[in-house]
Amino acid sequence: MLDSLKGTRWEELSRHYIAQWNTVAELTAALSPWLITSNEDRYAFLEEDSKKKRMQLMEKAIYESFELSKLSNEAKTAQEQDYQKTYREAAIKKQIQYLQKELDEMHPEEVTDVRKLELKIQESGMNREAQAEAEKVLNRIKYDGSNSAEYGMLYDYLDFLTTLSWKEEDQETISLTEAEQILEEDHFGLKKVKERIIQQIAVMDLNKKQSGSILLFVGAPGTGKTSIGQSIARALGRKYVRVSLGGVRDEADIRGHRRTYIGAMPGRIMNGIHKAGVSNPVMVLDEVDKLSSSYNGDPASALLEVLDPEQNSTFTDHYMNVPYDLSNVFFICTANTMDTIPEPLLNRMEVIQFPGYTASDKFQIARKHLLPKAMQSAGIPEGKLVIEDEAIRTVISDFTMEAGVRGLKKRMDTLCRAAAVRLVKGEEESVHVAKEQVKELLDMKPVHHEHILGDNKPGVVTGLAWTSAGGEILFIETMFTKGSGKIILTGQLGDVMKESAQIAVSLVKSMYPEKADVFEKNDLHIHVPDGATPKDGPSAGIALTTAISSLVNDHAVDPSFAMTGEVSLRGVVKPIGGLPEKLMAAQRAGISKVFIPLENTEDLKDVAEEVREKLEIIPVGEVREVLNRLG
Ligand code: ADP
Repeated sequence: MLDSLKGTRWEELSRHYIAQWNTVAELTAALSPWLITSNEDRYAFLEEDSKKKRMQLMEKAIYESFELSKLSNEAKTAQEQDYQKTYREAAIKKQIQYLQKELDEMHPEEVTDVRKLELKIQESGMNREAQAEAEKVLNRIKYDGSNSAEYGMLYDYLDFLTTLSWKEEDQETISLTEAEQILEEDHFGLKKVKERIIQQIAVMDLNKKQSGSILLFVGAPGTGKTSIGQSIARALGRKYVRVSLGGVRDEADIRGHRRTYIGAMPGRIMNGIHKAGVSNPVMVLDEVDKLSSSYNGDPASALLEVLDPEQNSTFTDHYMNVPYDLSNVFFICTANTMDTIPEPLLNRMEVIQFPGYTASDKFQIARKHLLPKAMQSAGIPEGKLVIEDEAIRTVISDFTMEAGVRGLKKRMDTLCRAAAVRLVKGEEESVHVAKEQVKELLDMKPVHHEHILGDNKPGVVTGLAWTSAGGEILFIETMFTKGSGKIILTGQLGDVMKESAQIAVSLVKSMYPEKADVFEKNDLHIHVPDGATPKDGPSAGIALTTAISSLVNDHAVDPSFAMTGEVSLRGVVKPIGGLPEKLMAAQRAGISKVFIPLENTEDLKDVAEEVREKLEIIPVGEVREVLNRLG
């Protein structure tokens, strides 16, 4: 018998067990499955013929098993003691809290700011990291007292942390029909946009969680991008918050300043969450195309982290210094153009285009939405102001120049204010606005839209441009003057457009080698008039090439033909952006035939029916096709 078993309970048990067997062979066979764990050991045991040696092996195995069980018993006891200590600590803390609360209730007037913060920390439901950080800061406040230099900063920090919503909000049950109704109620048209939003809501409802894809609304100002975000919030029964990112250059604007800075603040994202007061708002991140990076870090990469569903459940704002779960926020980004959005950020988002409104869309929007709202905010009762349909159409065509309806909204507001003055003065019982009165009431000059010319000289071609105010037509003019082969560029020509002009010149030279001496003996002057709108971008390539070719061949181009498309040095027509806006402008200006890049044919489905119907649209793959078809 092992010495270590002597005097223990094991000694008696072992004796009893051993007495059941008659031979050593029986005993070892019966015990071995309990004691020997590995197959190698078992095999060594069976292999052993000598009873003595087998007994020795058994003794060793018994000893090892015994030691093992002793060790695990010790570990268990230590663990139990640890648990007991934690439970005890928690129980004591709870008791203190309870007693303190009772005391507070007995003397509410004596509850200090610090004590209030302490209570708020306990009640906020913040995560463990946040609670630990908050308690650390609270202890510093307690230790340093309210006269310390940092008291204000620390107090503000705790106040921010405790007024944030840390609770997981309940998932609202969503009725798709109701959501559809709300979207329909708030916005006219935008059929594709609404369909896509409804899909997103349906996916969210099925998954019972935030869907992974982030929507990016791209379109000209005033096309309803931000306000539809508000409708989505209403449809989902969630809070809405708008965060403007225009002009953000500093990473700290997104992610906050570290608290060591004087005047440190949380970043715009956490500020938005704070403002919303819930952890799952619909957050519209406005103007992501206006982010720029500087020596202070790249805000786009910080935004990438905010929008990444893999990372945003533990988003750490530098000011807060503790993680916050952003995974339940419904993010929507808006932009005027995709060109300036960094590629990684763009990849993360799903683009939904807001193509701008046609004149008849704008009319409906003014009638059904803008005018009733304007009348309501001016306090004009229904029936006291009647604006004729023709008057609204005049406002749209002569007093606004935009793809969206922001200007139109302002004009409606102005009309209502002017009508309010007349009503209050008692001049009229009710105000009636016909087409003729619009100019006087708005008190502004009509805007100038380019209209096609009656007749073109050789070297002049109508191009189509995309500007932030929507589409516009532009006239590209070229002329030879006596000289020595120089190229003179004037007008609103950006760097990219200048390159397009160089390409166009080389292309025409190579297409008409017989005209080489015309280029040599003259200077070529290229002018893009109307300096009012910036027309950067390569989309004037085919118009420039056609203008120069028309000049060298002395062949005028029909002024009711327009064209848009980039051109490569080989004469291949490359795709361009903003096709719906450009075609809308072409139709408005009275164009009859438009050449567009072949690769843009797909985009025609985004062009309003009423625009497509009125234009002959010719997709072209090579610039030669344009020249051949000019007639
Ligand atoms: P964006 O964010 O695209 O610049 P907004 O959402 O701020 O444009 O819209 C400007 C105004 O135009 C808002 O008052 C909005 O309600 C109105 N608006 C835009 N599109 C529509 C529409 N389709 N139907 C009704 N109102 C619209």
